[in-house]
Amino acid sequence: MEEMITTPRILDGIGIAGEIKAEVAAEVQALKQRGITPGLVVILVGEVPASQIYVRSKVKTCGELGIFSELITPPESITTDEMLALVADLNARDDIDGILIQLPLPKHVDTKRLLEAVLPDKDVDGFHPVNVGRLQSGQPGLAPCTPAGIMEILRRTDLPVEGQNAVVVGRSDIVGKPAAMMLLNASATVTVCHSKTVDLAKVTRAADILVAAIGRPGFVTAEMVKPGATLIDVGINRVTEAAEVEEFFPGDAGRAATFAKRGSVVVGDIHPAAFASAAAYTPVPGGVGALTIAMLMQNTVTAAKLRRGISMRKK
Ligand code: NAP
Repeated sequence: MEEMITTPRILDGIGIAGEIKAEVAAEVQALKQRGITPGLVVILVGEVPASQIYVRSKVKTCGELGIFSELITPPESITTDEMLALVADLNARDDIDGILIQLPLPKHVDTKRLLEAVLPDKDVDGFHPVNVGRLQSGQPGLAPCTPAGIMEILRRTDLPVEGQNAVVVGRSDIVGKPAAMMLLNASATVTVCHSKTVDLAKVTRAADILVAAIGRPGFVTAEMVKPGATLIDVGINRVTEAAEVEEFFPGDAGRAATFAKRGSVVVGDIHPAAFASAAAYTPVPGGVGALTIAMLMQNTVTAAKLRRGISMRKK
């Protein structure tokens, strides 16, 4: 008997991000007609090359969508008190709707104190405890961008969430925990796993929706996945050994060419071999990662509206 082979659906993060950015640009135009230009400040301390790349694309996207942006680049030597004074100034400025402090900060700066100093209504990263609480209690607020992007992917591709078994591997404050809360708010039955979880594979194999936010290349293998599941891969890991590239992408000429050119390729937290039996999956790159900046732009517009009591777009 012939076996039925179904091709997994690739969830196109780049396309979805484009849709969201177009909607945000339209909202920005509508706000401008009311005399409001949403504004985002990005604070980048010191010279972390990866952060510089992220920040550049955030500022560039603001420009493309008509959002005012300002980049502040204090030296590595800035103290916590000086940073607190800077944040206080930005909290008070009427032309600024969103304040983003690019992480990680130098070790001598108290990150927690700073994140708590940002006015919750300007906290476009959604990291302030007030926004964490709003997410938990289902109130409107600003939610972390990467998990919000995951929910947009599920929503805009009509994948069912309600009643599904969702398993989130990873419990970080920026991805795992808020992703679990959003899935719960969307009426999935949610399990959160972490490094102390016993028999992880047994738990992940029960997942209809599996979210991997671990930070280890190809950690979730094919045996850990239920056939027909939806796989959401948040991981962005750079592998730099030829043997690893061959292990993750055997016979993949495109990946081999990228490796030859750049000396590295990007791999998610889910082993690419696991995608074959999935119903749908987010590729890396071009999946969840593509959404994060679009969601930041959306949060900036949401912040501009929240602060002025303008009602929110119905989703
Ligand atoms: P993180 O803060 O390092 O958290 C990793 C989580 O994975 C922790 O909760 C940890 O458990 C868990 N974990 C580690 N080893 C494990 C194991 N052997 N079994 C089960 N769980 C394990 O990482 P993160 O900031 O959430 O980021 C996760 C990944 O997403 C990274 O690859 C990162 O680059 C990527 N990321 C992408 C975006 C984007 O797409 N824009 C944004 C943020 C992050 P414990 O809590 O027990 O230690």
